[in-house]
Amino acid sequence: MPIKVSIGFLDSGNKKSTAWGCWMYSFHWVPADGQRHASLDSRPGGGYPTGMPVSTLCERNLPADNSDLGWLWSTCGDCNAEAHRIAGTRPDANGSQAPSPGRGR
Ligand SMILES: [Zn+2]
Repeated sequence: MPIKVSIGFLDSGNKKSTAWGCWMYSFHWVPADGQRHASLDSRPGGGYPTGMPVSTLCERNLPADNSDLGWLWSTCGDCNAEAHRIAGTRPDANGSQAPSPGRGR
């Protein structure tokens, strides 16, 4: 069993609850190419096997690396942002857009 990610809604350990259609969170995390990516590919039981090509949310096609070490890699930023978008939440990266009131230019 790989290390669980700390974000609760990304935990895909509840295999039995797919019947009630949790389509929003149908992506899975997969270590590949030195980072943890997310993919919408259907995941075999036990995870993507090492070497299996997966299409990631950052629009790449990478062979999975289902090793213990792989789960310690950092998260791919593009996949993380896309995963948040799919999940309906926003990564609070740019929250400081202060629209200054017009100064009568
Ligand atoms: Zn990625």
